[in-house]
Amino acid sequence: MAENRKMICRYCGADHFPGPTCQHSPTKKHVGVCNGVNCIYCGTKFVIPQTCQHSPDKRHKLDN
Ligand SMILES: [Zn+2]
Ligand SMILES: [Zn+2]
Repeated sequence: MAENRKMICRYCGADHFPGPTCQHSPTKKHVGVCNGVNCIYCGTKFVIPQTCQHSPDKRHKLDN
């Protein structure tokens, strides 16, 4: 039941993302702290075949 667990943005500390532009991120996107389960770009559970709307290369990513 941890699939929708909130993640914290490593740059601004926001506890909900993706949302508006992140003022503190070099890419202007919130990037989560890796927890080994959720994509750091969109915060949803990591699924390889799916496209990530918020990732620079359109792929979900688990860590940095
Ligand atoms: Zn942020
Ligand atoms: Zn993603």
